[in-house]
Amino acid sequence: MEAKDFIRSHIIEDLAAGKHTKAVTRFPPEPNGYLHIGHAKSICLNFGIAVESQGDCHLRFDDTNPEKESQEYIDAIKRDVTWMGFQWAGQVRYASDYFDALYDFALQLIQMGKAYVDSQTPEQIQQTRGSFTEAGKNSPYRERSVEENLALFEKMRLGEFAEGECVLRAKIDMASGNINLRDPVLYRIKKVAHHQTGDKWLIYPMYDYTHPISDALEYITHSLCTLEFEDHRPFYDWLLDTLGTPAHPQQIEFSRLNLNYTVTSKRKLKKLVDEHLVNGWDDPRMPTIAGLRRRGYTPESLRDFCERIGITKSDGVVDFGLLEFCIRNHLENTAPRAMAVLNPLKVVITNVEEATLALTSARHPNLPELGEREIPFTKEIYIDAADFSENPPKGYKRLVVGGEVRLRHCYVIRCDEVIKNEAGEIVELRCSADLNTLGKNPEGRKVKGVIQWVSATLGMPAEIRLYDRLFNQPDPEAGDNFLDCINPDALTVVQAVVEPSLANAQPEERFQFEREGYFVADLVDCKPNRLVFNRTVGLRDSWGG
Ligand code: ATP
Ligand code: MG
Ligand code: MG
Repeated sequence: MEAKDFIRSHIIEDLAAGKHTKAVTRFPPEPNGYLHIGHAKSICLNFGIAVESQGDCHLRFDDTNPEKESQEYIDAIKRDVTWMGFQWAGQVRYASDYFDALYDFALQLIQMGKAYVDSQTPEQIQQTRGSFTEAGKNSPYRERSVEENLALFEKMRLGEFAEGECVLRAKIDMASGNINLRDPVLYRIKKVAHHQTGDKWLIYPMYDYTHPISDALEYITHSLCTLEFEDHRPFYDWLLDTLGTPAHPQQIEFSRLNLNYTVTSKRKLKKLVDEHLVNGWDDPRMPTIAGLRRRGYTPESLRDFCERIGITKSDGVVDFGLLEFCIRNHLENTAPRAMAVLNPLKVVITNVEEATLALTSARHPNLPELGEREIPFTKEIYIDAADFSENPPKGYKRLVVGGEVRLRHCYVIRCDEVIKNEAGEIVELRCSADLNTLGKNPEGRKVKGVIQWVSATLGMPAEIRLYDRLFNQPDPEAGDNFLDCINPDALTVVQAVVEPSLANAQPEERFQFEREGYFVADLVDCKPNRLVFNRTVGLRDSWGG
C-alpha cells in the first residue's frame, strides 16, 4: 500500500509496528436510502485500503432505525458496492446481528453502575443536556440502584412502557465539555418490527452505542468516518474502555465529499424521490451511485474521481466538472464511436441512385481491436437541423445554400436547394454529392466542415434523453429550500435517428456520438425494438470553469 494520504500512512505505520497483522476496515451504511457519490469516497477508502494492503473490508449495515430502513435499500447498496468493483470480506454483516450482544453489554454497564434508566420525557432530557457554554443537569433518576435499573430495563425490553416513557443512558458526566459525554442515550423504546430481527425487539440501541461495539466485535483495526464524528470519538473510546472489549479499534476521521451543483444527503435525495421531482433513486440526474451508473458513468471513472480528490481533514467543495472530466477521460479511450442525428433534417442526394453504398469505419480511432462497423449511405439521409443555416453567422463552417460540407466518413455534399412547407419551415434539403471525394479532398478547394449524418431509410429511431445538472446553483443548500434551485431543463427528450449499427445496442453499452457527446444505452428502458440512450456528458465542459 502506498502512503498516499494520512490515513494510509497511519495504517502502514501500525502494521510496521506490529500492532495488527492486517488492516480490517468496514463500510457501514445505514440502509435508509441509496448510496450517493459521497459514499463512493468512503467505499474507495475503506475497500481500497483492504485491497492495497491485503486486508479485509466488511460491509456492515448500521440498521438501528428500523422504521426508516428497508430490504430494497439493502439490496441496492450491495449492488452498488459490487458494481464499484469491490468485494466485502465474508458475509454481509448487520449491526442487528449484535442486538443480543449489545443487550448483554448494556446489562454489564448497568451492573457496573455506568448506565441507568431515565424516566424523564424526551423534552426534559433534551433541555437538561445544557449547551456549549452551560453544563447539563443531572437527571433526578440518575442515582437509581443497579437492581432498580435492571428491573426497569427488563420492563423496557418486555414492552411494559410506552415509547418515550424511558430510555437507558450511560452515566458519564453531565458537566463534560463534550456534550456527547453528557449521559448519552444508549437504548430507546420503539415498538416497530425490524427488517432483520422481526418483532423480537421493542427496544433498539442508538447508533453511537452500536457502532463502537460492532467495530470491536468484528475486530476492525481502523474505523474510518467523516469529520462530524470527531466529537463522538471520546464516547467511542469511553465505551470500549469501560466494557474492556478484546479489540479497541481506532477511529480516524476524514473530510466528507461536498460536490457543487448537487446535494449529498440521503434525506434530501429521498425528498426528490418522494416528491416525484425525479424518476426514482436511479434517475440519471441523481448523484446516487445507481443514478450515475444509469447516466453512463463507469466504476473506473468514479474510482478515478475518488483517487483525484484524495483523503484529507480539510473540508472543501469539489467542482462537479471534475467528475465529468473523469468520465470523459475514461470514455474517450474506451467508447466506440457512432453517428446519431438528434434533430433530424432530411437531405435528398439528387445525383445518386436508390442503391445503398456500404461504407465502413473503425469503431474507435485508436482501438483497432474493436473492429469496424457498416455505415450505409443512401439517397435520403438525415443531418442535424443545426448543421444547416440559411443565414449563417460569420465563421459558420457547416452547410449553407450553395456551400459544401463533408459528411463524416463519406462524401462532400453541396446544398443546391431548400424545400419549405407552407409555414415557411425548412423540411428538406436537396444536395449533390461530389462522388470523387470518398477518403480524399475535393480538387482545387478546401471543405472545412464535417458533420454527422444517418441514412434516412436504414437508420434506427431512438429516444435520446439529454441530461443536464439537476441544480442550477453551485450550492443548492445555501438558500431556504434546495428544491427552489432545481434545474427545470435537466432533462430534455428528443426523438433521434441513429446509425443502423446501433440496432443491437445492449443496455449499458456506451458510445461517443460524434460531435454530440458520450451516451449510454439505458439500463432499464433500452430494448431491441426501442432504443433509448442517455447523454452521460458532452464532449467539452460547457459550464465554464
Ligand atoms: P447521509 O447524510 O447522506 O445520510 P450518512 O453519513 O448518514 O450520509 P451512512 O449510510 O451512515 O450515511 O454512510 C455510510 C458511510 O459513508 C459513513 O461511514 C459515512 O461517513 C460515509 N459518507 C456518507 N456521506 C459521505 C460523504 N459525503 N463523503 C464521504 N463519506 C461519506
Ligand atoms: Mg450515518
Ligand atoms: Mg444520515
